[in-house]
Amino acid sequence: NSSLHELDPDVAAAVDAELHRQQSTLEMIASENFAPVAVMEAQGSVLTNKYAEGYPGRRYYGGCEHVDVVEQIAIDRIKALFGAEAANVQPHSGAQANAAAMFALIKPGDTILGLNLAHGGHLTHGMKINFSGKLYNVVPYHVDEKTNLVDMEEVERLAKEHRPKLIVAGWSAYPRQLDFAAFRRIADEVGAYLMVDMAHFAGLVAAGLHPSPVPHAHVVTTTTHKTLGGPRGGVILSTQALAKKINSAVFPGQQGGPLEHVIAAKAVSFKVAASDDFKERQQRTLDGARILAERLMQDDVKQHGVSVLSGGTDVHLVLVDLRDSELDGQQAEDLLHEVGITVNRNAIPNDPRPPMVTSGLRIGTPALATRGFQAEDFREVADIIAEALKPGYDADALKARVTALAGKFPLYPSL
Ligand code: PLP
Repeated sequence: NSSLHELDPDVAAAVDAELHRQQSTLEMIASENFAPVAVMEAQGSVLTNKYAEGYPGRRYYGGCEHVDVVEQIAIDRIKALFGAEAANVQPHSGAQANAAAMFALIKPGDTILGLNLAHGGHLTHGMKINFSGKLYNVVPYHVDEKTNLVDMEEVERLAKEHRPKLIVAGWSAYPRQLDFAAFRRIADEVGAYLMVDMAHFAGLVAAGLHPSPVPHAHVVTTTTHKTLGGPRGGVILSTQALAKKINSAVFPGQQGGPLEHVIAAKAVSFKVAASDDFKERQQRTLDGARILAERLMQDDVKQHGVSVLSGGTDVHLVLVDLRDSELDGQQAEDLLHEVGITVNRNAIPNDPRPPMVTSGLRIGTPALATRGFQAEDFREVADIIAEALKPGYDADALKARVTALAGKFPLYPSL
């Protein structure tokens, strides 16, 4: 019954150091967030000890009466949150949710359409050495070279030419909204399933600040840890007609015992996501991204070759285009790290630099919005980033401004 610090001071020290890093820097990785303490409490609970293969009421293990309650709460809450007919809350991650959904809907060798990785798609949407690229015949679609918006004419043309069994809509790095109705129309024209991966923007959808894919798609997958702000994990929403296939693809198709402690944490986060506070937070997330995009499009930054892909944002992230800048993505990521702002470099469409270097930055606002940032605070952080991307910046001065912002919004004060 020793505490972590007593039993394993080495791991405890690293955990403490990570807490300090999160508290003292500004987290702007677009796929990250800060889970509430109650979510982490559920995830750290005794539910971690329980085997529960199967589904509520139909388990292959005894003693599941309490985890059944927890899993059913999670299912009911996420169905209500998104207006879905059916939900599977067991996928251990977003990648596993996508794998299970594909296993349920199509067969190895079938053709799928997905957004190219370098154009903002995810690994699981058909990248060559991912399971999706190995198992399926992948036909990638792209963004338009001029507008940087998904080229729906290309999607339609490729769909008619290749007759895919599945069309995947969704993204990891794209600053605009997709036209789900248009995707569904094209899917129907060629007899394909439509799967929307809303991992990035699920929180915005839950808050009613982004169109919902649920009425349009056969299957919607998501992670629970990005804008949704819960524990790391995945979920699959579907029509009732597909629920059985999805459930059996997750278990026994792909996973053994579900992580009931994580499912408990998911349930708590779905309760939070249905609140007015959550909606207000998602609005600040969007406002912050817009403020950032506007600042990075001003002349003082533009003259150094920095621009914003697609000329703005409708979501929680901004894609900075450094193709005309002296700085590459790696250098920009490193110098922001030096002043205490964490972002990730990101390949942009038609990137002339190699994938480990890139010519882009992906900068997101969900974590700072969760921390409490208001418009004025986003203006300050946007200005710090703008200054950092200009030659001759004063790292110490910028770091002091970052430290002041971090101090204004104490994170996890009770930990
Ligand atoms: N889908 C999208 C669109 C993502 O951006 C990600 C992760 O970044 C995933 C799926 C995979 O989620 P996970 O990292 O939980 O496997």
